[in-house]
Amino acid sequence: MESVNEPYANVTGTIPFPTERDIHFTGTQINYYFVCKRKLWLFSHNIELERESDLVQQGKLLHERSYKRKLKEIQVDRIKVDFLESKITTEFSQNSDAEISLQQVDADRKESRVSVILHEVKKSKSMHKAHTFQLLYYMFYLREKYDVNVAYGMLHYPLLKTQISVELTEENMSELKDVITSVKTTVSLAKPPEPVWIKPCRLCAYTEMCWG
Ligand code: SF4
Repeated sequence: MESVNEPYANVTGTIPFPTERDIHFTGTQINYYFVCKRKLWLFSHNIELERESDLVQQGKLLHERSYKRKLKEIQVDRIKVDFLESKITTEFSQNSDAEISLQQVDADRKESRVSVILHEVKKSKSMHKAHTFQLLYYMFYLREKYDVNVAYGMLHYPLLKTQISVELTEENMSELKDVITSVKTTVSLAKPPEPVWIKPCRLCAYTEMCWG
């Protein structure tokens, strides 16, 4: 689980996007935005009961058991991707001649492009939109901050034997930018939003704090 270890200053007014400061959130914060804004606020203000939650422990076990041989948990700054793969695409030149010169082979090699596929492992699809935007954020983050050529993302639901690919299109990137702005607005509130009972409350680590 990514952690939030910096307090957030109160921010008022409209701040134009994108700025370096706007893409400093963790994937967990983007995910919580879709689950519950109060949870996002509590987590973002270093009230991190999630570490102790049984649900989080179950999630960790699922990661460890499901993809043993894959490269796991790639940490870049404050984001943590479950695992990634690299992919090399070579656009070989179209040459109708049977013989291809050494120079041509070398030119093709230089044209090779390395891209990465990001993978996230989740337990159930009940928060599919939260999972999708968490993964989109990772793709966006690596692309914007480090110029990584991200081919696509893949959400894995091993318990359901399902996987779903996610692409960073113009449309969902625009929605993601709105989400990032809203996450910033939420964590900048002086106090947490009032609790509203929703289905995830039953298993939420903050239940006592909201409903105790
Ligand atoms: S218990 Fe419910 S209202 Fe409270 S933080 Fe969790 S999901 Fe949100």
